[in-house]
Amino acid sequence: MPEPNRGRTQNLGAPKPDSHLGTFATKPKTGVPCGHPELQKLLPALFAGSLAKTGRQVERRRLERHVRTCAACRAICVEHAHRTVTLPILKEAAQQFGITVPELQRSLERSAARMARTPMPAASCHALR
Ligand SMILES: [Zn+2]
Repeated sequence: MPEPNRGRTQNLGAPKPDSHLGTFATKPKTGVPCGHPELQKLLPALFAGSLAKTGRQVERRRLERHVRTCAACRAICVEHAHRTVTLPILKEAAQQFGITVPELQRSLERSAARMARTPMPAASCHALR
């Protein structure tokens, strides 16, 4: 893995708006349609935090119960988490190393594969107990 470029100015910008949600509402990535599109339409409000407001707790609980059993809505939640949490972290790390996010992902995959092939020394195994 390359050395981080700690002196580089970081300008990651704000997360992009969730314009993708409208697409998911009609074409979930899972290929399995949501059985309750009226609940799926509440996902942008959940992500924006507006379902946490007084008077919307019933909607929020109903949506949260639904997401536990709906693959289409869960896929939207995972995609949202990736875009708003994981991807910004990957972008920041890639900038520090002076590489692109795909280059960082390939480097991490190679490192993980190397670690998986390398047996852990017995002394390290005892340290984990
Ligand atoms: Zn759903």
